[in-house]
Amino acid sequence: MESLNAQIVSSPTFFADAMLGRLARWLRMLGYDTAYEKVISDEALTARVLTEHRWLLTRDGYLAQRKVLRNRHTLIVSDHLQDQLRQLRSELHLELDLGDRTASRCAECNVLLRPIPHAEAAHAVPAYVASQHGTFAHCPRCERIYWPGTHCIYMRALLQELGVS
Ligand SMILES: [Zn+2]
Repeated sequence: MESLNAQIVSSPTFFADAMLGRLARWLRMLGYDTAYEKVISDEALTARVLTEHRWLLTRDGYLAQRKVLRNRHTLIVSDHLQDQLRQLRSELHLELDLGDRTASRCAECNVLLRPIPHAEAAHAVPAYVASQHGTFAHCPRCERIYWPGTHCIYMRALLQELGVS
């Protein structure tokens, strides 16, 4: 368990079960590669965890008891996002510091964001956003554009409450 935990901390990739959609979005914005399927059978989920070498985050005690998932999961104890993040920080020593960065992965697609020039972003975002921000990134899959905007401010406030930012 210890060595696996150490491994997961050095290069953590996760699979969040269907009950952890909000946590998955947060982990992605914090930069962690986090697979998530809203609808997936236990069999398919287990297969992906094993073949993609992901660390399972689950609220499902029965799933967690599966032999093949032993030492490959964290059983999340709370329904509340803050408690869930606290648990990951204390058990996996997960770094939850966003710093001055904007999100680094798309919250929806789990794809790494690419920086785009201001001029390019300015066509796609509201004028006041374009005038307020110099740094933009976009998701190559869904084309969403990210900037250090309201969701980041909200994230920082929450992370500050956790005492991690
Ligand atoms: Zn996307």
